[in-house]
Amino acid sequence: HTFAEIDLGKALNDNIKRCKYVKPTPIQRHAIPIAMAGRDLMACAQTGSGKTAAFCFPLICGLLKSHALQPLSSRGVRIAYPLALILSPTRELSCQIHEEAKKFSHQTGVKVVVAYGGAPISQQFRNLEKGVDILVATPGRLVDMIERARVSLKMIKYLALDEADRMLDMGFEPQIRKIVEQMEMPPPGARQTMLFSATFPTEIQRLASDFLSNYIFLAV
Ligand code: AMP
Repeated sequence: HTFAEIDLGKALNDNIKRCKYVKPTPIQRHAIPIAMAGRDLMACAQTGSGKTAAFCFPLICGLLKSHALQPLSSRGVRIAYPLALILSPTRELSCQIHEEAKKFSHQTGVKVVVAYGGAPISQQFRNLEKGVDILVATPGRLVDMIERARVSLKMIKYLALDEADRMLDMGFEPQIRKIVEQMEMPPPGARQTMLFSATFPTEIQRLASDFLSNYIFLAV
């Protein structure tokens, strides 16, 4: 199996080549086709398994296919309306995801912005003002931005929760619930949600049943 055999489109395939990825990792081989088919997904994935690409590729592909990218007129607008949200527990992980997502989105027009706590919010607001399709964020900082009415989640079509067990361990469950509540209540299936976690305690299963619809559970 190679990436070329999965119908990810030319732009994304070129970027995958540029990243020197040839063969999908097991999580990628199984998760990408499920997500490309539009299904919600809960996946067991460890650090280093290639999970970032597993949720980024279908999401970028979906944004490109839907022609729903932010119009240039959204630049400089005070409230940002991202189309995809990737939540992750820490600044380090968010920055890593941001770097990878930027490489995968190279020359596609998809704009990726990162927001995390412990750094000045003003620079992050300025980055959002340049336009954002995919927002990578830690939960606390994102709640802050929502409360200041600088980010709206009403247009979110894709939600990825990375290292969900770690986010709960860090006490982010109230923030995560608040964030998901902000999203337009979709008809079932209108928002695609992917949850990645290394462990599956009851709290994670409860999150999955609250946020995912008719999902596939993948353990590789
Ligand atoms: P992750 O688990 O997403 O943090 O990825 C771990 C590392 O593996 C990162 O440095 C990725 O760039 C790299 N990686 C992910 N998928 C592939 C692949 N299919 N081929 C080669 N390297 C990969």
